[in-house]
Order: sequence, then structure tokens, then C-alpha cells
Amino acid sequence: MADSLGRSSSAEIDANQASSRETALTAFTRLYLHIPWCLSKCGYCAFFSAPGTAEQREETILLLLREMELAAKHYAGGPLTSVYLGGGTPSLLTPHQVQRLLERSKQLWSHQPTCEVTLEANPGTATAESLAGFHQAGINRLSLGIQSLNDRTLQLLERPHNAAQARTAYAEARAAGFRNISLDLICGLPYQSAEGWQHQLQQVIELAPEHLSIYSLSIEEGTPFSRRYSDDSPELPDDDQTAAMLELADQLLTTAGHEHYEIANFARPGHRSDHNSGYWLRDGYLGLGPSAHSLLLQGWGLRCSNPSDYQQWAARITADQLAHHDPEQLSRQQALAEQIFLGLRMADGISPQACRELYGAQAWQPHDKTIAELLKTGLLEERGRRVALTQRGMLLSNQVFVRFI
Ligand code: SF4
Repeated sequence: MADSLGRSSSAEIDANQASSRETALTAFTRLYLHIPWCLSKCGYCAFFSAPGTAEQREETILLLLREMELAAKHYAGGPLTSVYLGGGTPSLLTPHQVQRLLERSKQLWSHQPTCEVTLEANPGTATAESLAGFHQAGINRLSLGIQSLNDRTLQLLERPHNAAQARTAYAEARAAGFRNISLDLICGLPYQSAEGWQHQLQQVIELAPEHLSIYSLSIEEGTPFSRRYSDDSPELPDDDQTAAMLELADQLLTTAGHEHYEIANFARPGHRSDHNSGYWLRDGYLGLGPSAHSLLLQGWGLRCSNPSDYQQWAARITADQLAHHDPEQLSRQQALAEQIFLGLRMADGISPQACRELYGAQAWQPHDKTIAELLKTGLLEERGRRVALTQRGMLLSNQVFVRFI
């Protein structure tokens, strides 16, 4: 077991590494870098993020550069097929800081020619000039957290921007040369009506982004929202109303030419998020920065995470040690369960035959019965040789996933 700084668990990781490096040609092909700093904290946010200064951001860059070097010594990885700068608000970085991170990742692991490089951005934190700088630094996909185009809603969410700033950021990103922009939207918000949500969707469709992520609000413990609202607060749409909002999103966005390719994600053809698809397909990824998670393809998979504590993370890196703690070496059955419930998130579903071949008939066998039961209840359907969630299954996906764990 790990102590609070994860020292003994690092020894476990080292032991795993020593035995698996001979067998694993590459432990990861995807890189996630967590930038924990924001302008201010939004009322609903449970991500590992906090308001930070320019000095803190630069310190984080120096630590991430060091952590990349430590990781490169420990794990065989690359060439990278995707890099994702998430947070927090990575658009608070300067283009030069982003460039330093990307150059180092290229030197250490090289990037595939088609490598998707995403930066999460929030309106009001990037200028026309910095957006052009990010593009020049090698960012080829921008994920813009607009959340809503209604000023009253944005105030309720305690977002540090308004709708006009969101529209400006989008237009400036286009002018800066971004041809692959994703927008985040939230539904199921306090006082949100079906008509209000429809209006939001129509406005977003007019903007014509390549990709959209649509989440329903979840009240997370420890957030200001959890002290203000509970799941059955009268200000919030109930489950049926929220489900109807998600169904409306499916209807309007697919009519507008988007593919509903994952429970919460829509894309124009050819614009699925490659990085996130890697998570759902169970590719190996290395997550660096405080709170970041990794899946390293050693054995059936090694899952580990960095502490959700900036000082603990920084102390480990400063001492030239990886901050990975809580390593969990997955069994064949656990890896297969993940392959199923992560794969079912996607509209393409899973191939029972491919799972059987990869994990063995014996490991697969109990899942045959579960799938047959879920097909009967109408939560799953067969599509050729694949099995996928039905539209109802997408709305009740947790009830499906729990059956495979
Ligand atoms: S901008 Fe995003 S990460 Fe930062 S506090 Fe708001 S929701 Fe959280």
C-alpha cells in the first residue's frame, strides 16, 4: 500500500516496470497534461483546479517538463497519436509555455504525423493573439468550454465569462486558423426549460463547430452547488426532463449532420475526438500533472494516478520521483470488463468476437449471458456482428455498465 506520498507504491511500479518492459513494446501512445489553474472556481466544478497566478503556472510548466523526463526514463512510450492539455484552464498559459511542453513531448516520444493536439480553452482567457500563438505552437484542436450562451445561466454557474465573450473566443479561434473546434455545453441546469435548452442548441448549431460535448449537470459533493442544490431541488429539471433535453440534443444535432458517436459526444464526420476515443478503446495513455490518471499497457494494464494535491505532486517531482500512486495491476477479467463498458460508451459498440480473441473464450463466457439479458430488455442491440447501446440504453448507461463489473 502507498503512504500519503506514495513512496512504497512507486517501488511496486518499479517492480512491474522491470518485469514488463521486456514484453511491452510501448506502454502508451497518448499523453495527457493537467494544468490545474483557472481564473476562478466555478460553483459546480469538482475538477482538480484552483485560481492561480502567472508564477504558479510557470512553476507547473517547469514541473511538467521534469515529470515528462522522469516518465520517459520509466516507461517505453510513443510515438504519440494524441496529446491533450486539459485542466483547469490551459488557455491561461502563454503560447511559449505550450510550445515548450509540446517540443519536449516530441523530443521524448515523437508525434505521429497525424497527432491530434488539443488545448482546453475558456472564453475570456485567450486573446486573438494568444489563440494564433497556440495554433502556431502546434495545437490543432481547440476544446472551448462555453457551457451555455445564456448570461443568466453563466452567472448561476459562476463562470468567469459571458455569452458575448464565448462568441468572440469562437470567432477568434476560427480567425486564428483552428479548423477543429469542440464546444462544451451543459443541460439540466437550474431554472432551465425545454424551450431554453432548444434555443441554446439552435444557437450552437448556427456556430457550426466540428464537435460538441454535452453533459447533464451533476451535483458533486464538496462543491458550492452541493450546498445549494440536491438532486431533487425544485430549481433543477427532474430526471425525465433532463433525459428529454438529451434526446432533443440527439435529434437536433444528428439532423444538423453530427454523428452521436459517444454517450456525451457529437461530431461532424471525421472529427471524433481521437484522444478521448483512445480512452474508450482502452489505448495506453500517460497522464502527468496533479490528479492525472494513466493506463499503461503492461500486462493487462496498469492503472495509476497522481495525487490530487498540488504540493504532494510538486514535492515528488522536485525529488526526481514519479508521482504515480495507487497502482493497480489489472487482471484479465478486469481488463475485459473495462474493454466492454468503455467500448459500449461509443455508438460503434463492441465486437464480442474481437473480445473473445483478445481475452480468451473462458474470460468472455459469463458476459454472453449478460449481453443476452440486456438485448432482451432493449438496452443493447445487435448491429451486424457488434453489440451497442440503444438510444434508451444511452440514457440508462450506468444500469448497463454495472452489469459487467
Ligand atoms: S473553468 Fe473549468 S476547471 Fe476551471 S473552475 Fe470552471 S469548470 Fe472547473
